[in-house]
Amino acid sequence: MPQPATSPEKIWTGTAVSEGVAHAVVHVLKDQFDEPDEDSISPEMAGAEMARLHAALAVTRGEIEELQRAMDGEQGSAESEIFETHLLILQDSTILKQTEKMVREQLVCVDWAYYKLMCKHMDALRGLSDAYLRERFLDIKDVTQRVMRHLRGELLQHPMFDEPVIVVAHDLTPSDTVQLDRSKVLGFAVETGSAVSHAAIIARSLAIPAVVKLHGICEALHSGDSVLLDGEGGRLILNPSMETLSRYRTREEQAERREDVFQEERHEPASTRCGRMICVGANVEFVEEAGIVLDSGAEEVGLFRTEFLHLENPDATEDEMAAAYGGVVRALAPKRVVFRTLDLGGDKIDERLAVEPEPNPFLGWRGIRLSLGRPDLFKRQLRALLRAAAHGRVGIMFPMVSGVQEVLEAKAILGDCAEELAAEGFDVPPEIEVGAMIEIPSAALSSDLIAAEVDFLSLGTNDLTQYTIAVDRLNDRVAGLYQSTHPAVLRLIAMSVKAARGAGIRIGMCGEMAADLALIPLMIGLGLNELSVATTQIARVKHAVRRLSVAECEELEGQSRKCTSPAEILALSRAVAERCYPELFE
Ligand code: PEP
Ligand code: MG
Repeated sequence: MPQPATSPEKIWTGTAVSEGVAHAVVHVLKDQFDEPDEDSISPEMAGAEMARLHAALAVTRGEIEELQRAMDGEQGSAESEIFETHLLILQDSTILKQTEKMVREQLVCVDWAYYKLMCKHMDALRGLSDAYLRERFLDIKDVTQRVMRHLRGELLQHPMFDEPVIVVAHDLTPSDTVQLDRSKVLGFAVETGSAVSHAAIIARSLAIPAVVKLHGICEALHSGDSVLLDGEGGRLILNPSMETLSRYRTREEQAERREDVFQEERHEPASTRCGRMICVGANVEFVEEAGIVLDSGAEEVGLFRTEFLHLENPDATEDEMAAAYGGVVRALAPKRVVFRTLDLGGDKIDERLAVEPEPNPFLGWRGIRLSLGRPDLFKRQLRALLRAAAHGRVGIMFPMVSGVQEVLEAKAILGDCAEELAAEGFDVPPEIEVGAMIEIPSAALSSDLIAAEVDFLSLGTNDLTQYTIAVDRLNDRVAGLYQSTHPAVLRLIAMSVKAARGAGIRIGMCGEMAADLALIPLMIGLGLNELSVATTQIARVKHAVRRLSVAECEELEGQSRKCTSPAEILALSRAVAERCYPELFE
């Protein structure tokens, strides 16, 4: 732990999205495309600088050739031609000569010289109307990014830290997050993002504090600075003083004592005052969380986001995936584990699959669309999941379903996989449950058709809210509009619950709305009996459920139907929550 600082404190205030307090040094994740410093060099250093460039080019070349080989194996020559272009740019002798000239004549470091020259080429192509030439701009940008990264000697693929750190970044994407050494990360401080951005979701899963919308921190902070991150008050304090640290220590001790009370009954089932059982499950992103799930009091895993495992190791074989999934199923048996098939796309980008950037990734090749478009990848995952099902109770759930046709296609592929595996002598249990996420308005509106084809539905309100209100869940500027209590969102939820009841199948909620303590009365009033939340929230959600009665929740839901504004509905539900379990709001 860093020593209290003698320099003056400086405080930034943002939005708290994952609670807890951390005191550590920061590691600033630089944008991969930052302008390098224009460092001067002596004439004798010019040779060493050029050697540095050649070394970076050689590593980059190896990286691109590897990508090219992977593409050759999977998609034929069209995509691998892109990498051919990248290799040509990398080896362009004119660029190399111009860089060397600049280094030797202007006596500047090679990072600066290479960066400036590549920017000149990019500027010439940027904004051209010709689509082919515009694509070349992206090629140069991609190659430059790779070379600059290797010149800086950064192991950006897997940043390792010598000591525990608070990660500071402009934007923390899911791919960045999976590549961090999580055992050393004590918190996230991010300039962009929201409560439903995946960095926030992961922070809650890992039970570490996170604060988003901390504008200007990347510029002001340097790796090694000592900070205190307050995941409740939404503050980041540079150079915290002795007084500040002791004030926070006292606060933390009080919070721990309060938390102990809620935790006591976490392993007991949660039933309302009137006896309705509510299944409280866990949302999970990483295999290593199995132990945390067992300790949390979760009754099942309602959502395992498998794309994080994929982003950690995109080359995993079917055997490796079957072993990883199977390990989780075995560790948690007899609890049900609902694995969601890959929800890649949107902000969860696998660079190798997303060869062409999309203008609207959240409306593009995401979730089940990508899986159906890449049957090789999809089948590999489904086969691994079916094999894992031999070790316990497994549910398989399809993400980003827009209508029943996708469900039928996905089920047909699942059926083929089961037949293949059986023919190969694998033990495939017949009772695997198949489900669909309801997170696109078209899916909610046709939930009766979908419900007729699956064993369960799960409401993904993070996306359902964004797509219903047309408000990007990551965009700061429209964050005020992102309200899950919008009457339109609630109507879609009610419609889906009705469809599930009509078909006699289970329906739960796994979006972040399910963990909002102020909204639990409304959720129960809407008829939900299954809530899947971050492990850190399980005990509190169960505590809340035990203090509610279905009749008062249904009455509240009835009143909410007469309201016109999301804020009014939130206030109604919060009033019931505060009356029934005020201790959770202290
Ligand atoms: C959701 O959209 O609510 C959901 C659970 O999926 P994700 O947050 O992974 O998009
Ligand atoms: Mg979603």
